[in-house]
Amino acid sequence: MRKPLIVGNWKMNNSVAESVSLVDKLKVLAKDVAGVEIVVAPPFTALFSTRDVIKGSNIKLGAQNIFWEDRGAYTGEISPLMIADIGCEYVIIGHSERREYFKESDEIVNKKIKSTIRNKLKAVMCVGESLKDREEGRTMQVIESQMRKGLEGISNSELQTPNSEFQLVIAYEPVWAIGTGRNATQSQANDVHIYIRKLLLQILGEYAASVTRVIYGGSVKPSNSAELMSEKEIDGVLIGGASLDADSFVQIIRSACMV
Ligand code: PEP
Repeated sequence: MRKPLIVGNWKMNNSVAESVSLVDKLKVLAKDVAGVEIVVAPPFTALFSTRDVIKGSNIKLGAQNIFWEDRGAYTGEISPLMIADIGCEYVIIGHSERREYFKESDEIVNKKIKSTIRNKLKAVMCVGESLKDREEGRTMQVIESQMRKGLEGISNSELQTPNSEFQLVIAYEPVWAIGTGRNATQSQANDVHIYIRKLLLQILGEYAASVTRVIYGGSVKPSNSAELMSEKEIDGVLIGGASLDADSFVQIIRSACMV
């Protein structure tokens, strides 16, 4: 049984004070939630203060991106080592906004996944097709290519942390559903999740295919989260907009407890 995972990606939103106030409220609202893993991914500038607020709570810390080297002359970049040092457990890799605006290729995603794993962090690797891909019937082809290239050269045994937690999460995020208010239907999402699990079996083997959580992202809100997570293959959600409001965020978290 895979534990549901709910990740809030705040993107380039929230000052330090706003981040602290949001997570402070979330901490109180979600304090009795059990059996669901909750992660917030604030902007880099708010990681430190957010970490202090969530100390001792059931909320974990994630970063929205990393560079692939541990240290060196890479002006403006943040390394996985720094992210681990600040108390992050998760890193979002290959979000479609990074692929689109910062031209992150599958090769770059692969380097980042490898450095995440090397530093004993958990990677949330995002994959997803554009509207054009879907309309032209290429969804599964695009997902397969992103999965195979993103996970190239990674073995099952590398993905196990010393405390035996698995380090890989896949987020299926159809690009046309992100920030558009238009979510994939239950069956559209589930079909791709089933295919991703089949690919995990082929790429990483039986164990990885059974423990890797495959979560959905794209216009998740309190009104559609329970329905999406009622699907057997949807192990949680990655939330953008709705995670910026503690009340909406906690409603989505609670809907994972009901499934
Ligand atoms: C995201 O950024 O990963 C996302 C899914 O955004 P939204 O929930 O706003 O569509």
